[in-house]
Amino acid sequence: MKLYKIKKTPIDKKGLGLVASCDIKKGTKIINYIGNIITKKQTEENPKFDNSKPIYLFNLNNRYDMDGDVPWNTARLINHSCSNNCDYDGKGLKLWVTAIKDIKKGEEITCDYGFGYDSDYKQFPCNCRSKNCAGYIVREGSRWRINKKFKKNKKN
Ligand SMILES: [Zn+2]
Repeated sequence: MKLYKIKKTPIDKKGLGLVASCDIKKGTKIINYIGNIITKKQTEENPKFDNSKPIYLFNLNNRYDMDGDVPWNTARLINHSCSNNCDYDGKGLKLWVTAIKDIKKGEEITCDYGFGYDSDYKQFPCNCRSKNCAGYIVREGSRWRINKKFKKNKKN
């Protein structure tokens, strides 16, 4: 059974997000984050990523990135929230989304996009409406969403 449903949400202007279809316990793997595995060179050469905040691009290791901007990647619909209930997780070349809090049925599934705070942060306003909303999609100290996590894995 799928733990999520695709639904219209107020967070995304285009209106889609993922909503929990049942109560989900903290630590549960909710959905795989899939896409095309591309080399760093392909990332550098593709004008699509000519932006310091590539929304669907993940750093997998020092050789490969994951381009999640493909129609079959349902997890790309997950919206950012300043009080996110999920986080991106991964091992090797696999990525998924894990609940970091208990989530109630009907609650929207959200992640922290983890954009760095820099001069062009105003490009990405946040509509998450949580109490601690920063107004923009920013998190200090990380340029690509799970860069740090994978750097750690690489050493093993
Ligand atoms: Zn917010």
